[in-house]
Amino acid sequence: MKLLTVGSVAFDAIETPFGKTDKIVGGAGTFISLASSFFVKSQGIISVVGDDFPNSTITEMQNKGINTLGLQIKTGEKSFFWSGKYHNDMNSRDTITTELNVLENFDPIVPDEYQNSDYLMLGNLSPQVQRQVIERLEKRPKLIAMDTMNFWMDIALDELKKTISLVDVLIINDEEARQLSGQYSLVKASKTIRSMGPKYLIIKKGEHGALLFHEKEIFFAPALPLEDVFDPTGAGDTFAGGFMGYLASSNNHSFENMKRAIIAGSALASFCVEKFGTKRLLEINSELLNQRISELNKLTAYKTNQTS
Ligand code: AMP
Repeated sequence: MKLLTVGSVAFDAIETPFGKTDKIVGGAGTFISLASSFFVKSQGIISVVGDDFPNSTITEMQNKGINTLGLQIKTGEKSFFWSGKYHNDMNSRDTITTELNVLENFDPIVPDEYQNSDYLMLGNLSPQVQRQVIERLEKRPKLIAMDTMNFWMDIALDELKKTISLVDVLIINDEEARQLSGQYSLVKASKTIRSMGPKYLIIKKGEHGALLFHEKEIFFAPALPLEDVFDPTGAGDTFAGGFMGYLASSNNHSFENMKRAIIAGSALASFCVEKFGTKRLLEINSELLNQRISELNKLTAYKTNQTS
């Protein structure tokens, strides 16, 4: 298996300045695996849902080549539920509700078929569960990336730091980087966070793009300027899924290839925000994705005309 994803598969209720939804399908693991399916044809997911979760979504995931053997369905229990409200700038949001439900006592069982996965993406979930998956893999994957959020920094900081110390790439947003490091400058924050373990740090800045830090190098990728941003939920996960899917499919995690992977992740995230939930990711195809990647390439390409 090329890629293994761990992360919430959930219901979300979202309010943005442009509209409001009742419970719709969301979850970090859902967005990540749907996004990475544009690049990898052999991947698995580890997560848990209640019997309230729609079978049709699980079928849709399977149709995209996502192996769902590791997605546990708990009879008589409720799926994880998150609700949030976006501010007018659409770059920041408040969490209104987090109901862990099935996630509270989740025991992440790793099916035999998932052993020997090349790449591991630990999506947003409790840091204990993320660590258990690393420990239960017989062979360490070539690269382990991890996403997390302020919720876990607030309630499980020590556990979170233990898990962070085991991963190669940490992917968080600017606010989370500042909270985790206690530093306002993102350059200083990146040093503090990389001293906790990860050799690579990606800081997502929403509509302002993303930064990749490694040793003394920094790479910046812009986000595509869009006329309409409808719902940013899942954009970060979609970005991470595109990034890891790209690396896993090319079986190359050099710094240069990570730059290409970041552009691929940014292009996918630009679709995610155009409609509520996973809707847009389920509509697009590789042709549209490649057009967006070209648009992103054009956005910052220029010829230097330096005088000596
Ligand atoms: P993003 O917008 O990329 O930060 O991700 C939003 C997704 O993360 C939503 O679909 C939520 O279901 C999921 N989510 C929100 N809070 C948590 C949490 N504490 N643990 C796991 N997943 C979460």
